[in-house]
Amino acid sequence: MNRLTVRAPVAWLGPGGLVEDAQVVCEGGRITYAGGVTGVDAADQELTVDGFVMPAVADRHVHIELSDPATVLAGGVTAVRDLAWPPERILALADASEMPSFDGPLIKAAGPMLTAPGGYPTQDSWAPVGTGRELTSAEDATAAVEELARLGAAAIKVSLNAEAGPTPTDGELSAICDAAHLADLPVTAHAQGSGQVERALGAGVDELAHTPWTRLSDEVIQTAALRLRIVTTLDILSFGHDTPEIRTALDNLRRFHVAGGSIVYGTDLGNGAIPPGIHTREALLMAEAGLEPEEILEAMIRAPLAPDAPADLIVLRRSPLEDLRALDDVTHVIRAGRVVAGG
Ligand SMILES: [Zn+2]
Repeated sequence: MNRLTVRAPVAWLGPGGLVEDAQVVCEGGRITYAGGVTGVDAADQELTVDGFVMPAVADRHVHIELSDPATVLAGGVTAVRDLAWPPERILALADASEMPSFDGPLIKAAGPMLTAPGGYPTQDSWAPVGTGRELTSAEDATAAVEELARLGAAAIKVSLNAEAGPTPTDGELSAICDAAHLADLPVTAHAQGSGQVERALGAGVDELAHTPWTRLSDEVIQTAALRLRIVTTLDILSFGHDTPEIRTALDNLRRFHVAGGSIVYGTDLGNGAIPPGIHTREALLMAEAGLEPEEILEAMIRAPLAPDAPADLIVLRRSPLEDLRALDDVTHVIRAGRVVAGG
């Protein structure tokens, strides 16, 4: 079995795990050792880098077919979660992505967005036919979730976008959450429009697929922080510019963070001019929302570097704990123990 050893002057293995003179050993696609330099047996491949080693990045909100998987991987992102695409296409691609030779990140996928007849995104030009699954009843909602679970969906996405059309009924939304939780799948919602975040909270939705960009009351923020997590997708509200939407989203996320809410990094790659690979501006916006550099890295990674974790790591030229803009300088990418970029 192929064994790769990586040595570096410094590594951040995960929260609280900054190590000098570091060594990471990968075998069979998994980490077998991560810590200070140690005298492990000779490796088949040794990589000594003059940089900062950290776990590779996971982007938890993408539409991968609107981007280029190979460029995403080369840019330091070894895992993505696709949150709306026709199921027959995206779940087949997700299967293919499990092969170590796949030239792209590991893909997990929700399949289609569950929606009301004529609801978002069925009328939207970015979404191929099948990106929205139109529900006709609560029974149909249950059947749709059960079918997606059988097909290997990693999450259930529901459209609560009341600004773009009708949304599922309360009965359908409850049926979605019940069936998903029975199948051990999280429910993630695109909540947009007055009262939609409150509906998500009431029904037991596990995650908001975007930071909301209309102001949430402190009371809603407090409840949300206890019940669900937020995928950031901040830069789609600004694309580098100052807008009312980004200001409101940053205010919501700042209060959600202070209230102890769980936050994960996601870019909505495929939506407008989001670049493939690590999107440093998203990390900088997370800092504007009050997250500390180490909290930001924790929200961005697939998993800490520890025995039995996926052997997915990257090398940066310098430390992002000192300056997040270091995330722009990826020199090496390792996915499943294979050096796929740099080296
Ligand atoms: Zn999206």
